[in-house]
Amino acid sequence: MYQEILKISKRRGLMYPSFEIYGGLSGFYDYGPVGSRIKQNIENLIREYYVLDEEFMEVECPILSPQDVWVASGHLDNFTDKLTECVKCGEPYRADHLVEDKLGVGCDHMSVTQLNDNIIKYKISCPKCGGRLDKVYDYNLMFKTYVGPGKYKVCSYLRPETAQSTYLSFKRYWEVGRKKLPFGVLQIGRSFRNEISPRKGMVRLREFNQAEIQVFVDPEAKNAPRFDELSSMEVDVLDGEDKEHQTTLSGAMDGGLIDNQLIAYFLGKSVKLFKEMGINPDALRLRQHKDDERAFYSSDTWDIEYLSPSLGRIELVGVSDRTDYDLTQHSKLSGANMQVSLDGRKFTPHVIEIAYGIDRPFYCVIESAFHQDDKRTYFSFPPKTAPYTAAVYPLVRKDNIPEKAREVYDNLREKGVMALYDRTGSIGKRYARADEIGVPYCITVDYDSLKDDTVTIRFRDSMQQERVKIKEIPSKF
Ligand SMILES: [Zn+2]
Repeated sequence: MYQEILKISKRRGLMYPSFEIYGGLSGFYDYGPVGSRIKQNIENLIREYYVLDEEFMEVECPILSPQDVWVASGHLDNFTDKLTECVKCGEPYRADHLVEDKLGVGCDHMSVTQLNDNIIKYKISCPKCGGRLDKVYDYNLMFKTYVGPGKYKVCSYLRPETAQSTYLSFKRYWEVGRKKLPFGVLQIGRSFRNEISPRKGMVRLREFNQAEIQVFVDPEAKNAPRFDELSSMEVDVLDGEDKEHQTTLSGAMDGGLIDNQLIAYFLGKSVKLFKEMGINPDALRLRQHKDDERAFYSSDTWDIEYLSPSLGRIELVGVSDRTDYDLTQHSKLSGANMQVSLDGRKFTPHVIEIAYGIDRPFYCVIESAFHQDDKRTYFSFPPKTAPYTAAVYPLVRKDNIPEKAREVYDNLREKGVMALYDRTGSIGKRYARADEIGVPYCITVDYDSLKDDTVTIRFRDSMQQERVKIKEIPSKF
């Protein structure tokens, strides 16, 4: 399935490995002309859910930050993977992956010493050439660079997440937002991680897209005023002790599974959002981080995972109570005051973070929408994520039919409808092409159209056709 999706994605311009003509570079993907539209639709849906519906702010910060930011955040010391390299062929490996493959259990929390011991104990060697593996060490995943020339150059890093750059201007949002809590700040943008060996295509990239939301709250008020809207939502839960539950959000709250209402609310909101994007909701589950997996400052952290038929579990969003850790850290190192005064109290706000990937949901939208049978291949994207709403076809390329079709097409564009105009090949071939990029409606202009101003609309999922008046087309979408 994955190979089939990748084949169509390349052929139809959804996504494909970058730098192909120079042999490619692992961990980088292009969004093609069709994929870019789907990605933008996904981003806009996130804006709709948070900027429009929750009245959160949106900011954009540089992707490059000076070293101090990453000293304060802890990334310089802790944002590492355990690396080992083959002494003979030089192949790099994540040591925890090698030990995990041998032992069959998760090893991503083993220390350097534990990993070294296991490699020796189980005689693990280079999977590629059988060579000896070198000592395991902590390898920082940030891309390092310098800003400016010569002795004035400033050591900097490409951000491994957008969150930190959002925190730095906390006091500006506080002022702009008229000194009230809670408020949220969304940032959509690129981040970078110099992964040791990116696997699974779009699921683990070195340059990737994120939409991270920081909700600044009063530590004494972690309730969600709109929780009732989502409280009866049914969810599959895997708790921090690997126990499965089928419950509702309010059930998970009442049973003490989720630490506070805000986490539960944003988990529910995310499930709703993924569903609206077109991700199969039956494949989603809420997974709580285990004690040894959660950051030491976090009081509770959850992921929403999608079970992919081809790639296994994929983490789509993390919802975490980060307490006052980040603001306090940046306050300590910079000297800036990050406290607020509210109702006669002085305190540092807490942060609930909702951290979405964009590339992973993108892939999961595509996979969830993928259908193939002996007759055809198509993507059943919902209208909100489909790259184009409609395709317009002249039946033949003569007798004023193309002119009429062009008129229909221009009218749609003038109304703000993203449409395609395609006059090449048989109607059947044109339907097949539109199916392969998931266009919901195909409109054919024929000889009758010239007489009575009607066209045929063909619906993608049912393949049914309907004759409608040209002026009634938009009402069919
Ligand atoms: Zn080797």
